[in-house]
Amino acid sequence: MSSSEIDILIELMAKLPGLGPRSARRAVLHLIRKRSILLGPLADAMQQVAETACECLNCGNVGTTEICEICASQKRATGELCVVEDVSDLWAMERAGVFGGRYHVLGGTLSALEGIGPDDLSIPRLIDRVATEEISEVILALNATVDGQTTAHYIAEQLESRVNLTTLAQGVPVGGELDYLDEGTISAALKARKPL
Ligand SMILES: [Zn+2]
Repeated sequence: MSSSEIDILIELMAKLPGLGPRSARRAVLHLIRKRSILLGPLADAMQQVAETACECLNCGNVGTTEICEICASQKRATGELCVVEDVSDLWAMERAGVFGGRYHVLGGTLSALEGIGPDDLSIPRLIDRVATEEISEVILALNATVDGQTTAHYIAEQLESRVNLTTLAQGVPVGGELDYLDEGTISAALKARKPL
């Protein structure tokens, strides 16, 4: 490996969330020193994921199959649909382990400022799922940001005559993103959910 190849690796690592150039350099040095037990297996795992990762055609979760494990599972209650902004929110809900239904990932929030409208998100697909799947309750688990709440209200307007709508309880701090909440807080917010 020439040093320029190492530089390329450092530059790429520095683009990861939470890492800057300094921590990227430390991480790369660490990886090189642990070449056989860490760098090799990591490179293999990245290669595998690069080849197989895809979005679930049904809910937008990220996995390695066309239909994700959650959508395909017979054990999940099909009547409850939890709407989240991002895959990281879905994964946070799953970490909390309290929700037995299925999900719908919007892929962001509506934003007048950034010109993001309903068709830029998977809102049409959500409306379609409510119309075609036997869904009894839609839980809006959107972040307590202005855009998150605007999006929740828009979805509520579209769906209110068709399905039971609930929202996470106000245990979720303002501006708090689900991914940053601990499992207990998510669990409490879900259990205390209320009609919209
Ligand atoms: Zn899915």
